[in-house]
Amino acid sequence: MCASKAVDCLATDAPERLQSLRNIGVVAHIDAGKTTTTERILFYAGVVHKMGEVHEGNALTDWMEQERERGITITSAAVSCNWTNAAGPYQACAHQINLIDTPGHVDFTAEVERSLRVLDGAVGVFCAVAGVQPQSETVWRQLTKYQVPSIAFVNKMDRVGADFYATVDSMNDRLKANAHPVCIPIGQADQFAGFVDLVEMRACIFDANDPSGLQFDWRPIPEDYQQKAAEYREALIEALADVDDTVADIYLEQGELTASDLYLAIRKASIASKFCAVMPGSSLKNKGVQFLLESVVNYLPSPLDIPAASALDAQEASVEIAADPAAEFSALAFKLMSDGFVGKLVFVRIYSGTLKKGAALLNPRTGKTERISRLLLMKANSREDIESASAGSICALVGGRDIVTGDTLCSRALNVRLEPPTFPEPVISMSIEPNSSSDKDKMEIGLQRLSEEDPTFVVTEDEETGQTLISGMGELHLEIIKDRLFREFKVVAAAGRPQIAYRETASQSAQAEGRFIRQLGEQNQFAVVRLELQPLQPGQGVEVHVDPNCDLPKEFIQACQEGLQEAAHNGTVAGYPVVAVKLLLLGGELHEADSSELAFKMAGIFAFKKAMEAASPVLLEPVMRVEVETPDEHQGDIIGDLNRRRGNIIDVNKKIAFTSIVGQVPLSEMFGYSTTVRSLSKGRASYSMEPNSFEPVPSTVLHSILETSNRAFAHN
Ligand code: GDP
Repeated sequence: MCASKAVDCLATDAPERLQSLRNIGVVAHIDAGKTTTTERILFYAGVVHKMGEVHEGNALTDWMEQERERGITITSAAVSCNWTNAAGPYQACAHQINLIDTPGHVDFTAEVERSLRVLDGAVGVFCAVAGVQPQSETVWRQLTKYQVPSIAFVNKMDRVGADFYATVDSMNDRLKANAHPVCIPIGQADQFAGFVDLVEMRACIFDANDPSGLQFDWRPIPEDYQQKAAEYREALIEALADVDDTVADIYLEQGELTASDLYLAIRKASIASKFCAVMPGSSLKNKGVQFLLESVVNYLPSPLDIPAASALDAQEASVEIAADPAAEFSALAFKLMSDGFVGKLVFVRIYSGTLKKGAALLNPRTGKTERISRLLLMKANSREDIESASAGSICALVGGRDIVTGDTLCSRALNVRLEPPTFPEPVISMSIEPNSSSDKDKMEIGLQRLSEEDPTFVVTEDEETGQTLISGMGELHLEIIKDRLFREFKVVAAAGRPQIAYRETASQSAQAEGRFIRQLGEQNQFAVVRLELQPLQPGQGVEVHVDPNCDLPKEFIQACQEGLQEAAHNGTVAGYPVVAVKLLLLGGELHEADSSELAFKMAGIFAFKKAMEAASPVLLEPVMRVEVETPDEHQGDIIGDLNRRRGNIIDVNKKIAFTSIVGQVPLSEMFGYSTTVRSLSKGRASYSMEPNSFEPVPSTVLHSILETSNRAFAHN
């Protein structure tokens, strides 16, 4: 912890530097006010001198053209700023806050997922009127999955109907967040005048004559708030005592906790992900954002406070990577972005060591060395060249060529692979046809760049029709990709209708023999392959193994493996890619003169087809987790409609003013749902959906699905 005198903890070699870093994400339901809050943070931290307004389309972090038009945040922009607390244990000590503005739309969960992987803490922004909304739940599940310590900002306290306490209750009720106010609002809606800080027991009163929010006063707690403040402070201490015995001990011994005891206890419980500190504010009206920043510094962890990262070394043994600037270098590439000025930017989180401009790094995936020509600190849409960066930092590298999202970059001596983020399989595809041959070339370059940037966006070629297919996480996802292709890469192309990305798998084990014995031109061909196929757990891919008793020569085994991999691109039900099967090459027969690699590859393909046919193949469809929030009176209609869409209702939860319905529904039944839900609820219900699983298509609808999918005998 820094001393209370002014120290420049950010000077490169100061030992306090790591302790003074906060890598945080701002996460929320769309429209809760993430972008506005991020803007205000940058304003008060002095990065920008004029506030941007989202509804005017000039917010700094929403820098992609499509985002400005749609008013949503799609790409996580990494932004750095410095902040110095005015009170508390870290006062007068400059802290660097690296902010990632994560997207709110469900189609972009991959963006959220990958940013959470590299962050140390998060600020959840909630709307004081709507409380916890479906998307906040989705994001919170991800925060819990990665054990990201969080604090919460209850935004929009200026709006009519704002209810701070109901929002905290809904966080506890729906998110099980163990959320407790560290300050409580003074007034709400147009009477929102300040807040009581429960740690220091003082009141912050906003200056009604200063719309910029730069002026406010710390005063004694107003008389009519004293009792409420005492009650909430008591409740705060009790909540902390529940998760930390030392708090209970101090309380029993001394009958009270000092402000420093409380700062420490809240920090400890937050970092252990056992407690979520909540505070009220209004980003739009410039209220409470500075206190949010103080809380980020006070309660969210530095890179030294979180467990060491885990990685695999060259022998696949698990190793721990401690955040030490003097150690060997390692970093995880968590985002790629093409930039009009500098080319490819690779965003990295540095886990250990120090990187200097011009250094050469190993990419253990490719075995190649990458030279880093520039290091950049990103400040919204501007950037600052830096000479070096060390453990704990988030920055962008220029110069790496063959790097994809999830790659580790490290020193040769270390040679480890950090655990990459996991991404769901694409659920929707669309064909895309360039207008001319020059468009075709531009399109190939564009698609390659875009798929390097985004691991949930996949490009494939339909082998039969030669068409290019793009696949992703939802209609909006592909829509944005298409838009970027047209605008950034100037490609003129026609896109087909969105299609469901079906998969195929086997439901039982089977053995088969593939024979390729024929005359091709002057040459006889001979190969026989015996294969066993076994189903794997859902979520797995295709594994090819060779039985130890297989005595075929190595080159024929390799050719056969190639044939098996290739054949698995097209299942036997309708030609969709096969997943979750294990292929075991048992052996085969060869002919001294006539056997060749080509013959074994072909025999592998035939063996695969026969084994799949014998293994009761099934078509798998993407099933979505759908959550609808509706006024109670429309609940019956919404559930009835979801049932008609082959939906399986798993939870119906009655809230104060509305009902939340959670179901699992096949994606093929969800096209056009936004219109239906609007008309069923007279425009009052909202919904969110995200990929849940791939499930077998019931035989009753198989035929009609194959017909309507209109890709019955193509593949993707
Ligand atoms: P995001 O989708 O979570 O990034 O939310 P935005 O920051 O884009 O905000 C969504 C809308 O809510 C915009 O029209 C904002 O002007 C508005 N908004 C954001 N914060 C507040 C607030 O504190 N009070 C009010 N009344 N409106 C707000």
